[in-house]
Amino acid sequence: MAKATKATKHVYFFGGGKADGNETMKNLLGGKGANLAEMAGHPDLRLPVPPGFTITTEVCTYYYDNRRTYPKDLKAQVDAALARVEALTGKQFGDAKNPLLVSVRSGARRSMPGMMETVLNVGLTEKTIDGLIELTQTPRFAYDAYRRLIMMYSDVVMEKAAGIEPKGGKGIRKLLDERLAKLKESKGYQSDTELTTADLQGLVADFKQMVKDVLGKPFPDDAQAQLWGGIGAVFASWNGKRAVEYRRIEKIPDEWGTAVTVQSMVFGNMGEDSATGVAFTRNPGTGENKFYGEYLINAQGEDVVAGIRTPAPINEYSKNLKSKDLQTLEEAMPGLYKELDGFQKRLETHYRDMQDIEFTIEKGKLYMLQCRIGKRNGVAAVRMAVEMHKQKLIDANTAVMRVGPNQLVELLLPMLDPVAEKAAPVFASGLPAGPGGAVGRAVFTAEDAVAWAARGEKVILVREETSPEDVDGMHKSRAILTSKGGMTSHAALVARGWGKCCIVGCAEIEIGEDNQSFSAKKGVVVREGDWISLNGTNGHVYQGALPLVDIDLEHNQSYGALMKLVDKARQLGIRTNADTPKDAAKAVQFGAEGIGLFRTEHMFYGEGSDKPLFLLRKMIVSKTLAERRKALDELFPFVKNDIKATLEIMGKRPVTIRLLDPPLHEFVPHSEDKLQALADELGVPMDELRKRADGLRENNPMLGHRGVRLGVTYPEITEMQVRAILEAAGELIKEGKKAYPEIMIPVTCAQTELAHQKQLVDKVAKEVKAKLGVRVPFLYGTMIEIPRAALTAGKMAEAAEFFSFGTNDLTQMGFGFSRDDIGGFLPDYLTAKVLPADPFQTIDQEGIGELIKLGIERGRATRPQLKVGICGEHGGDAESVKFCHRVGMNYVSCSPFRVPIARLAAAQAAVESAAQKKPASKRK
Ligand code: ADP
Ligand code: MG
Ligand code: MG
Repeated sequence: MAKATKATKHVYFFGGGKADGNETMKNLLGGKGANLAEMAGHPDLRLPVPPGFTITTEVCTYYYDNRRTYPKDLKAQVDAALARVEALTGKQFGDAKNPLLVSVRSGARRSMPGMMETVLNVGLTEKTIDGLIELTQTPRFAYDAYRRLIMMYSDVVMEKAAGIEPKGGKGIRKLLDERLAKLKESKGYQSDTELTTADLQGLVADFKQMVKDVLGKPFPDDAQAQLWGGIGAVFASWNGKRAVEYRRIEKIPDEWGTAVTVQSMVFGNMGEDSATGVAFTRNPGTGENKFYGEYLINAQGEDVVAGIRTPAPINEYSKNLKSKDLQTLEEAMPGLYKELDGFQKRLETHYRDMQDIEFTIEKGKLYMLQCRIGKRNGVAAVRMAVEMHKQKLIDANTAVMRVGPNQLVELLLPMLDPVAEKAAPVFASGLPAGPGGAVGRAVFTAEDAVAWAARGEKVILVREETSPEDVDGMHKSRAILTSKGGMTSHAALVARGWGKCCIVGCAEIEIGEDNQSFSAKKGVVVREGDWISLNGTNGHVYQGALPLVDIDLEHNQSYGALMKLVDKARQLGIRTNADTPKDAAKAVQFGAEGIGLFRTEHMFYGEGSDKPLFLLRKMIVSKTLAERRKALDELFPFVKNDIKATLEIMGKRPVTIRLLDPPLHEFVPHSEDKLQALADELGVPMDELRKRADGLRENNPMLGHRGVRLGVTYPEITEMQVRAILEAAGELIKEGKKAYPEIMIPVTCAQTELAHQKQLVDKVAKEVKAKLGVRVPFLYGTMIEIPRAALTAGKMAEAAEFFSFGTNDLTQMGFGFSRDDIGGFLPDYLTAKVLPADPFQTIDQEGIGELIKLGIERGRATRPQLKVGICGEHGGDAESVKFCHRVGMNYVSCSPFRVPIARLAAAQAAVESAAQKKPASKRK
């Protein structure tokens, strides 16, 4: 039995087919350390990994908790592990004759690419260099390794980790690099490979002198000192400025800490039979199941990514425009390529996901230096998920979880042609507020955007910021670019809702005083009408018109296959918010199973609305019941036809139609001639008409005479609408078609309101049945958007057969935040972390979510079959959709464009909760 006082294990060894750790120990060993252990020690793998050991993240925590010191027994454990490495490699660390060199590598739980430090060639000193020369018989290589060590070590350990701020912003590494460049220039060399042994020997001496001069300390010429300096520097790099900032953005906790892996060096820079490279088990750009990667002959690890030399493709498949004439690894070293290909296949099968790997070839022998789950874009994510499922590498649920909802967004939008984008210089960059790509001509006002678009021009609206008055122009633009504002600015919110490409806070651009041009930092000017291209996924702006590639969903087999798995997995129904036959048809294409919100008032805005709007106004300014009845009768056929068109498109799918919602005053004409026309039509003097219009004005119209309140004061308005809905449906049924309307009463706060309106509905239903001779199946229900309605849901459900949570208003009234005025304080709330997120984007589960839960519970207590959905903007937000699943809603409804995202989020919610409980049957 182990003694209770057994010493803590700080150091985990790997090598020689064994490992103390494994892949599941990422928290303790970091991603890199855990995967090195797995590759080295797992019986299915046992790949050639240079032996080494990992110091745990707990030591990092200790280090910061104890004024940057180490646990007492760490040194002894490191020595013991180092001795095992020495035994396996047959070399000795710090030995003059047969020196072992190591790398000191960082590795957090989650990869933080480029954020922390790694030092190579540690252990190389005046004393050991001759041994290395003797051992390798290549003095040039030995001196190259030495100068690399000095560059890396002075930079990482002696400057950065020591917290030295370089004078004039020029760090030691930069200075040494310049020294190297000067030498090359004076000798007329093109490439590092032309440096001779003597050149390098001279550089080493120069570098040491420079280090001493600049940093005030000699470069440590002792292997142990270098090792512990390196270990300390990696721990210190956890709190480096870049790493801290990165953690903020990626929400990685500061407490995690990094592990340190010390690993025996292998050298890809020992001549033409040596090489180093990085590769992916599948193409991370397209998802295609082809081994994909780059390598460099005679080079050390960092060179491939550093871009000093153009890396060569590992195989034919990996060639690109730049590298197409270079020799592939497959051609250069066919045997080793085959071995590597075998390893990558084993790794992918083992991890059941695409792997990103690092390898090095030293004098004809292949070593594996790293593997991890590879990052991929949306297109690739979908394809990989589907193909791995087909290969039976993963099950359906795993496939569904492999694609992030935001990655799916990438699939739904046209994007800039990646090849063209790579070749184009970035002109300016801002915050990626609305994904996808867009190309258009710059305009600087919303009016211009409207006017130019009317002429058939593709435009991009460029402004400092946008405001609600710009909405029309924004809508008509291909994309929006603002120099100010953040991710919750008006432009960002509006664009995201539409799925429109948008870049905000692009501080590098300055809009000219004439508002006819803008310039970027580099002084280049874009004038009105000039073409620009935006990538809203990464925030980059380009000059000129780059080609766009359209995403063809219907022919994207991977997308189709993924969505099949998604639909099988999910329990939530998915509906859409649509007011026109066109939107409805689009949503059905995207997979909508019904309409969750059809706003009747839509017909009074935009194209073709002149006549019905005129009639609506006539109704609004009516003084007597007779006047109003007459106007309503005239309006009736318009409303009926409008509803009928959408019902017809939706067929067997249910359509929730909301009765008139906005305050009437919103529709009163502002212009004199429109008022005059109305006065003429009604036969009343202008003065009188103005008085009537003014009488409708309210102080807080959003809390005023609107929604159900109109129906209570003017029952004839409700009656007309209900008649229009039921007759439209009845006519379709008589034509042999299907129609399932659901009549929804907005802005209710009391059961009595619902009861009051229900009488009218029942009366009209009877009349319609008598008139048409058919029975129209329909449901009667209400929006739940006022907190009181949620609280009294038990009573509301006595009349209501369904609830639809209007979470925009529920959030507005629950928080007491005016949705239209939130811009004044929300950004500050978010920066000061007074609120964790914009509650209008993601449901506030703690508060508004409680109202929803309570509403559902109480409603279903009265009416167990109560159908419950959501129709706020939140219906398209992945996190909110997951919430809706958990609280047991029947469906979510969102804009047509968000439907696929909602489907995926719903499926993921089901998979996530399936782990805890048995899956329920499909909801409708
Ligand atoms: P990062 O996390 O930035 O990728 P790494 O620790 O992976 O840093 O190391 C940087 C580079 O050095 C990589 O290319 C890696 O392959 C290489 N490298 C690290 N350790 C060794 C080693 N023991 N032998 C040879 N190359 C190494
Ligand atoms: Mg690496
Ligand atoms: Mg509302």
